[in-house]
Amino acid sequence: MQRVVVLGTGGTIAGVAQAGMAEGRYQAGVLPVDALLAGRRLPEGWQASAEQVVAIDSKDLTWAHWQALAAALARHLAEPDVGGVVVTHGTDTVEETACLLDVLHDQRRPVVLTAAMRPATAADADGPANLEQALAAVASLAAAGLGGIWVAVHGRLWRARDVRKAHSHAIDAFDGGGAAPAALWDEAGGWQAAENWGARAEQPPLWHWLARQTPPRVACVFSHADADGWLVHAALAASQPDAPLKGLVVACTGHGTVHEALEAALKDAQAQGVTIWRSTRVARGGVMPADDAPWPATGGLTVGQTRVALTLQLLAPPQRPDVLAYLMAG
Ligand code: ASP
Repeated sequence: MQRVVVLGTGGTIAGVAQAGMAEGRYQAGVLPVDALLAGRRLPEGWQASAEQVVAIDSKDLTWAHWQALAAALARHLAEPDVGGVVVTHGTDTVEETACLLDVLHDQRRPVVLTAAMRPATAADADGPANLEQALAAVASLAAAGLGGIWVAVHGRLWRARDVRKAHSHAIDAFDGGGAAPAALWDEAGGWQAAENWGARAEQPPLWHWLARQTPPRVACVFSHADADGWLVHAALAASQPDAPLKGLVVACTGHGTVHEALEAALKDAQAQGVTIWRSTRVARGGVMPADDAPWPATGGLTVGQTRVALTLQLLAPPQRPDVLAYLMAG
C-alpha cells in the first residue's frame, strides 16, 4: 500500500456559504481538509492521510504560508510510504504556488495541486471531482515513475510552469497560456497522457532552504497606453534601506514591448540596482527571449509566476543557478 498525503491550504474548494450571506457569496478556506477527503474515491492500492497546513483565501497568501507548506512537504515526502502529495489550494494564486514548488522540489515524487471554482456547499460543487482527479493523478504519475509539480483541475493536468487562471468565474477556469495540458481526464480510463507528458530531472530539494529566506521586495508594473513611469519613480522614492526595491516585473504589451516612457523609468530603476524581468499582459503565447532585448523575458510564465521566479533568483538558491532557465526547461 502506498500513501497519498492531502495537504489543505484553504481556497474555494474548502469554501462555505454561510447563513445570511447574499446569493453566490461564500467564505473560502473554511472546511477542514479531512472533510474534503471524506468519502472521496481513492486510487486502487493507495491509502490517504491529511494535514491542514493553513486555511486561507489564496488571494491573501504570504511568504510565511509558503514556508509552512514547504515545511509540510519536506516532512511528508521524507516518509518512505508516501508515494505522492495532493495540495488543496485556492484558484487565485495556485499558479504562483505551483511555480514556487517547482523550483524547490527534488522532482522525485508527484505533488499535485488542485482547486475549485465553486464552494463545497454549492449543489454543483466541482471540488470533489477535482480532488478525486488529483488523487488519481498522483497514482498515475507515480505508476509512470514521474515526480514533479502538477495542477489537476476540471479534467486537465497541467505542468506547473504552464498553468494559469484564465477565467474569473467559469468552472473551466484554467489554461496553459497556449501550452497543451500534460494529460486529459477520461471518466472511464482515468488520466490519458498527452503527447508532451514529461518531467524534470531529479534535484536536491530546497524546502529547508526556503525556511531561512526573507523575500526581497519585488513588485509588478503594467505597460499601457499613456504610461509615464510615475509609479516606478514613486517606488524608487519610497524604497527603504531595510527593505529596498530589488526587482520589478513588467507586464509588457504584446511580445514583450514596453512604452518608451515606462522604459526610461525602468532604466533609472536598473541604474539603482533593481533587476527587471519581462512578462506579458497578453493571455497566450508568452514572451520568448531575444538577444537585443533590454531585460530577460520569462517565456510562458505569467506575471505572478515571473514575480515568484525573480524573487527566488534574487535569493540565489543553491543548486539552481539560473531559476528562469530551470523553469523554462524540462
Ligand atoms: N479566492 C479564492 C482563493 O483563491 C478563489 C478560489 O479558490 O477559487 O482562495
